[in-house]
Amino acid sequence: MASTSSRFTFSEWPPALSEAQLEALTLYATTYALSHSLLYLPAVKPQPPIPDSAIHAPLSVFPSPFPRRLFALARRLQSTYNILYARIATNVEFLDKVMGSIEGVGKVDDFVGQLWTGWKSPPGRGSRSGGPLQLGLFRSDYLLHAGPNNEPLGLKQVEFNTISSSFGTLSERTAALHRYLYASTDFPQNDTTAGLAEGLAAAHAAYGVQEAKVLFVVQAGERNVFDQRLLEYELLEKHSIHVVRQTFDQLAVNATVDSATRALRISNDTEISTVYFRAGYTPTDYPTVSHYSTRFLLERSRAIKCPSIALQLAGGKKVQQVLTQPGVLERFLGNTMPAAQIDELRASWMGMWGLDEEAGVHKAREAAERLVLKPQREGGGNNVYKEAIPEFLDALPLLERQAWIAMELIVPPEGLGGYLVRAGSEAVKADVVSELGIFGWALFGGPEGDVKEKEVGWLVRTKGKDSNEGGVATGFSVLDSLLLV
Ligand code: ADP
Ligand code: MG
Ligand code: MG
Repeated sequence: MASTSSRFTFSEWPPALSEAQLEALTLYATTYALSHSLLYLPAVKPQPPIPDSAIHAPLSVFPSPFPRRLFALARRLQSTYNILYARIATNVEFLDKVMGSIEGVGKVDDFVGQLWTGWKSPPGRGSRSGGPLQLGLFRSDYLLHAGPNNEPLGLKQVEFNTISSSFGTLSERTAALHRYLYASTDFPQNDTTAGLAEGLAAAHAAYGVQEAKVLFVVQAGERNVFDQRLLEYELLEKHSIHVVRQTFDQLAVNATVDSATRALRISNDTEISTVYFRAGYTPTDYPTVSHYSTRFLLERSRAIKCPSIALQLAGGKKVQQVLTQPGVLERFLGNTMPAAQIDELRASWMGMWGLDEEAGVHKAREAAERLVLKPQREGGGNNVYKEAIPEFLDALPLLERQAWIAMELIVPPEGLGGYLVRAGSEAVKADVVSELGIFGWALFGGPEGDVKEKEVGWLVRTKGKDSNEGGVATGFSVLDSLLLV
């Protein structure tokens, strides 16, 4: 493996390989992946009820070099983000104003409006401040931002995920894969599985009924099941907590909430301590009104939600943008954190603004080449980039403008290469961009207003440089890890 001295230059990466070397490494990598649950279900539709095969997840043969200083910064920021989003989720007035159906995004975005209305309508008071506890399993995503000489100058946040933050357990295995292939001291530990399970176990303990179970709400036909199951096994093996998996369709039949105690039960027996959503983040998870009813039923129960509807709304891109307005961050953190800590967080942001006013739309047209427009959606494939922006704005109905934000494009260092492998194909050499995600959890919402939180590990996803988006699940990128330089 190449030396990782301070003279490291990104364009030297990855090491040159002969065809035979690459083939040998690819075999080592994919065999390790298949042996260590670094897996996906194959792309067969519909998924058979009992799958009988798996493929390795898309992989990078080499880890990506990443500046040690910026990795440390990303990890340090996580606690501040954990606390920030816990406070946003318990600030009803703020969420009403930004995401609500009366004056906020919910007025023009049906999905956001549905969630907000369900959250507000009595007795859906599950998430008000001073209400029951809530759990967040978060992932804050970043890209390196290059300086004038293509040097990795800073770290800029892409987005903050508050629902269904995936690839925790698979990222741990990808880090282990690269450690196996290239024994080196420059690989940071990555214990996301233990860390995320610890968050769920903390919620379970706070609920206070040991024999209760944790509910995983999942999508039918999910291919990324191993990433979820590995968390389930960890909960059972390390914490003696049982997990029930259910889709919204199954819950519509099986879930009941006791009218007196508000205990959530599945099939009239299993009491649920914590509801962990790996579904429900996208409108297609709610094909009918009754799917929303099921979500609201869970919300009304006394089980701890991960996330509550309020916390899901807090993860909206609109909130990310409003945080950049003067004084907003201080409102959430100012009384408990030194200014330097707040400034460090703010320095991780790109410029963002809303499109609700004509001036914002005008500015977006002018600067289109340097921008991405984002709606209030998760899961990849929803953004509008650069030259597509003016035409998109021409067609965007006036009323819908409020549902979108403009964000300056992060400019990652150029010249970094990688070998990317998908199941069934040879490794492909490509110019790449790597996105770092930092996982954290927060348990909050009790009457004291305190936030128990922790940073628990990381993820790297690497995509070809010319692809705008970077979702592994949507097929644009591969799982990767990092080598500190
Ligand atoms: P989603 O919630 O759908 O994942 P993201 O905000 O993460 O939405 O955007 C999807 C992808 O688009 C990111 O993974 C990243 O590759 C790219 N992207 C988003 N924002 C920016 C940005 N400001 N600069 C450069 N690329 C971006
Ligand atoms: Mg994303
Ligand atoms: Mg997201």
